[in-house]
Amino acid sequence: MKESKGSAAEARIRAEVLATARRTAAEGLVVGTSGNVSARLGEMILVTPSGVPYDRLGPEDLVAVDPDGRPLGAGLAPTSELPLHLAVYRATGAAAIVHTHAVHATAVSTLVDELPAVHYMTAALGGPVRVAPYALYGSDELARHALAALDGRTGCLLRNHGTLTYGATPEQAHDRTAQLEWMCRVWLAASGVPGRTPTLLSPDQLAEAAQKLTKYGQEP
Ligand code: 13P
Ligand code: ZN
Repeated sequence: MKESKGSAAEARIRAEVLATARRTAAEGLVVGTSGNVSARLGEMILVTPSGVPYDRLGPEDLVAVDPDGRPLGAGLAPTSELPLHLAVYRATGAAAIVHTHAVHATAVSTLVDELPAVHYMTAALGGPVRVAPYALYGSDELARHALAALDGRTGCLLRNHGTLTYGATPEQAHDRTAQLEWMCRVWLAASGVPGRTPTLLSPDQLAEAAQKLTKYGQEP
């Protein structure tokens, strides 16, 4: 493996993006070269290259582009979902983005317009997660649909395609994907019971959970 490029901060973010991309494959959130991961460092956006298995990538193989998608130096071709990543960075406070084809989330994207609030972790994504209408992978139309679905949320489903989540770090974006995939699995399990309908949380119950989640975990 070659040396990582640039500053210490860039080296760290390259390592985090690659580790997150490898996790998505190891945890079965993607198959083969599906999915992509990116992170923003000031005016530099680092994205996974298109169609290259993550176990064959080193940190130096991540592609650096500016916020308009112009390559910062020579290298591999960036992810085909570059328009999607750039649109999310432009419109939100995202510092990292994870896109996957997680099984249960993709299944749910074909069934409903919004993931029903079966669990309080819905609040961790900003509220019930919407499904962006289908558009061709890598298209500006898909980016537009995803942005609309993301309004007030840190994640959405992409119809007949997969998931997109963002966060302050690649790890947080990944965690949100894992939570989203898990909630989709819960909803599929509960809604598949013949003759029964899952109970859902009310907006008040979600607001209460959102409030409590701001203090979740250990004191800093
Ligand atoms: P890339 O290999 O170009 O990142 O594409 C994978 C994908 O998930 C497209 O939606
Ligand atoms: Zn995809």
